[in-house]
Formats: sequence, C-alpha cells, structure tokens
Amino acid sequence: MQTESFTASRVDELNSLFLNSGPEKLLKWGLDAFGDRIALCSAFGPEGMVLLHFLFRMKRRVRIFTLDTGRLPPETHDLIEKVNNLYSFEIEVYSPDPADVREMVKTHGINLFYRSVEQRELCCEVRKVRPLLCALKGLSAWITGLRRSQTITRSAARKIEIDDLHSNILKLNPLADWSEQEVWDYIQKHSIPYNALHDRGYRSIGCAPCTRATNPGEDIRAGRWWWEKDQKKECGLHASPSSVAKNGTNCERIGAEKLVGASGR
Ligand code: SF4
Repeated sequence: MQTESFTASRVDELNSLFLNSGPEKLLKWGLDAFGDRIALCSAFGPEGMVLLHFLFRMKRRVRIFTLDTGRLPPETHDLIEKVNNLYSFEIEVYSPDPADVREMVKTHGINLFYRSVEQRELCCEVRKVRPLLCALKGLSAWITGLRRSQTITRSAARKIEIDDLHSNILKLNPLADWSEQEVWDYIQKHSIPYNALHDRGYRSIGCAPCTRATNPGEDIRAGRWWWEKDQKKECGLHASPSSVAKNGTNCERIGAEKLVGASGR
C-alpha cells in the first residue's frame, strides 16, 4: 500500500512512466497503490462510462461515488438504472445538505444560476463542490474522466496530478490524452450504455436547467451554462470558481446504491 507523499518531481516521473500506456495500466497502479483510499468520481458521462467499463473488466473492487445535485435530468437517472443492470459496483451517492439548499433557495430563488456567474457558482458550490469535499474525505487519490480536449481549463491536464484544490491528494486522469472520438469509438465497440440525451445533440451533460444540446460546430461544452460567455466555464470540481469562497463541507450521503447486475461483456 502506498505511503509515500507525492512531490512534483515524483509526479513528473510517474507521468513519464504512464505517458504512452493505456488507461488500464494507470488504473491498476492506482488501485494497487491506494486500495480503499482511491475512488472513481463518475457523473455517468461518456468518459465515466468508459472508465466504469475498464474497471468492470479488470474485476477489481473499487470505490465509486457520484454527486446527485438534485437537478439532474431524468435521463441521467435512467442511465444509472441501466448501469445497475449491467455491473456490480456499489456506488456511493453524495447529495447537498438540505439545509444549505433551503437557505440558498430562500435567499436567491430556485433558478438563481441564470442571474449571474456568482449566483451560478454559488449553486454549483452548494450542490456539487461541498458534496465533493465530503466524498473526498479520507481519500489519498481520486480518478476522474477529465480529458485535455474538453475545455481550455483542462488543456494542460496530466494523467497524474497533485490536486491542490483538494488537500494535495492525487488526481488520476486515465483518459487525459483521449479524444472525444476515441471515447465514442470505445463506447460503440463495447456496446456500453450512454445517456439518451447524447442522441438528441447533447455532448456534455450536467444539471437539467444548465445543459442544452449543442449546435453543429459548437464547442463540446457550449451547452453547459450556455448563457455565460466566458470560455472558462467550470463548476468548481476541477478548477476554482472565480468568486465563491468555499464555506464548508456540508453534504448528505444518501446511501450506497447496490448495483448488482449481469456478467457484462
Ligand atoms: S449545474 Fe446548474 S443546477 Fe447544477 S449545481 Fe451548477 S448551477 Fe446548480
């Protein structure tokens, strides 16, 4: 089990080691190194579905968590049901603290995010960032589906990073060097289920009121918070929001969904 603390130079070495290897090798290294102190964060997007499939094929026990903001589209919950029937993972579900949500809605209204970037970032902090901080408690590393080509803010993402937003734990991005096309090729090749909204023009899916389909030629993340003009649109999970201080770590773990399913492919 890994006990070393990771310096920038050690992380450089590891990135060199995994530079030309596929996701499976990095996932195996992470699971061997950290055991119960590493977890996959999945929002059941295409990248998350690819990583779930890799982990399922590796037949390794791994912690998986998701953040249920309370504003997800029904199609995302439908996909979780499908995963339920395919794989046998136990998924930890973290939700925002109801008191935090009540206070925010009472003060700013239910759809505050349309009013300003600051209010949108407040909503993301209450519904996503604080639950993430809860989910990461006690972890030494987490696994994400970040890819360099997703956004400007992710263009420098490495396969292994020190996460200075989250107590300097390690962040593993096994798909950092994959293109969107590679993700979809993998999904098609292995008949992996995906969110039905993708067939209706959605390329990146978050909460229902903050996501729309993209038009031809638009950026992959153009449908997220589409009313904002700044290209650096982030919810705060992977990049610090511009104006909202982190005020606490309130959240509710609403219980693990035991996902018991068939033997897969
Ligand atoms: S994506 Fe929209 S609804 Fe979801 S947490 Fe952020 S602002 Fe709130």
